[in-house]
Amino acid sequence: MASKQPVVEAPNIWAVAQQQFDLAADKLDLDDGMRRVLRVPQRELTVNFPVTMDDRSVEVFTGYRVQHNVSRGPGKGGIRYHQDVTLDEVRALAMWMSWKCAVVNIPYGGAKGGVIVDPKKLSTREVEGLTRRFATEISPLIGPDRDIPAPDVNTNAQTMAWIMDTYSMHHGYTIAGVVTGKPIAIGGSLGRNEATARGAVFTLLSWAKATGTSLEGLRVAIQGYGNAGSIAATLLAEQGAMIVAASDSSGGIHAPRGLDPAKVGAWKSEHGTVVGFPRADEVSNQEILEVDCDVLVPAALENQITRHNAPRIKARVVAEAANGPTTPEADAILHDRGVFVIPDILCNAGGVTVSYFEWVQDMQSFFWSEDRINESLREIMDRAFDAVYAMSTRHEVDMRTAAYMVAVARVADATTLRGLYP
Ligand code: NAD
Repeated sequence: MASKQPVVEAPNIWAVAQQQFDLAADKLDLDDGMRRVLRVPQRELTVNFPVTMDDRSVEVFTGYRVQHNVSRGPGKGGIRYHQDVTLDEVRALAMWMSWKCAVVNIPYGGAKGGVIVDPKKLSTREVEGLTRRFATEISPLIGPDRDIPAPDVNTNAQTMAWIMDTYSMHHGYTIAGVVTGKPIAIGGSLGRNEATARGAVFTLLSWAKATGTSLEGLRVAIQGYGNAGSIAATLLAEQGAMIVAASDSSGGIHAPRGLDPAKVGAWKSEHGTVVGFPRADEVSNQEILEVDCDVLVPAALENQITRHNAPRIKARVVAEAANGPTTPEADAILHDRGVFVIPDILCNAGGVTVSYFEWVQDMQSFFWSEDRINESLREIMDRAFDAVYAMSTRHEVDMRTAAYMVAVARVADATTLRGLYP
């Protein structure tokens, strides 16, 4: 039965996550017991922990680690540091990780973590102290066979190095596989930095193949010129597409005759923003979503495509490199207008897929070439796209519902096969 919770402009993402699950469960005719199991996280750990600040005062921070479902393998999901982190947000992100890992069929369950903190207000030493103590507090849950964190908002390869070191110190030897997204020097993987963008481009290539087109000459607008957005711009240009608009938190630029992604990247490195790039018009972050283009790549934040702008979006295909950029109401509008949406749990799953390769390499202490990584990523992304596209055609549902159906069915299958303990 679908949830009747109203959807507002900035919906509670836990309510949205449950609503999306309900829709897939309805379509799959999932039995009531399984719905009750999968609709809530399996484990939630809240920790309040002290950190000695640089002035020797003691602050207490609150953090969470949530495992939604671990029937298909260890939990997998990032850790974010943000002043607005809530338990509900971490629950939603953990549930989405279960579906994302299942849609690309890698042997992981879903998990997520977060600490309520604005790390920009802390010194590097304070962030290190916070990270090491948080890693210690959640150590009953994490481990290479149990739950494997990764970077998320405001955490990075250095944060992962500190968690890996802390966990290794507890055990007395190096355990590289406890986290992914590490620096290459201590067991990180080649190709991880580009993986999210590369995976998104593979899904666009699959879309082009399925619809009998090619990316050659297509006009692309990219909201968010960070890791995912800027690398997607470069890779799409390599496929012959033309980048006509790009933006970051300061605003956007539009050049109907095309932008050179490398030059835009160099401008951003020098000036801190894409704004001001020569021979381009300025556009706002809302206008960029509505520019005349064939492909729209939201690669910034949640809730960008809403019922207000969805009727005016001109792209034929939306590739969700960001997590949660489209509200459920906007989804329905885009579907009615025939816009093809490649949903986040499929489109940006290249990141977690190469994290999986990193973990496999760490567990085997044998490291792959970048070519092998990119080929294996292509294989997994192509297979995932085909499974979702087939589900969407067979059940006449949009790609998001289809992706949820593929994922929820896989998690439900694993849960059923294992049975309920005891
Ligand atoms: P990032 O921090 O490298 O880049 C984010 C970009 O968005 C920056 O250029 C920033 O200026 C811009 N931005 C911020 N607010 C904006 C706004 N209001 N309008 C337009 N642009 C804005 O982050 P990232 O790693 O590229 O992540 C981007 C999105 O992709 C997030 O939703 C993230 O969850 C998702 N994602 C990333 C990965 C990954 O591996 N990097 C994996 C899966 C999903």
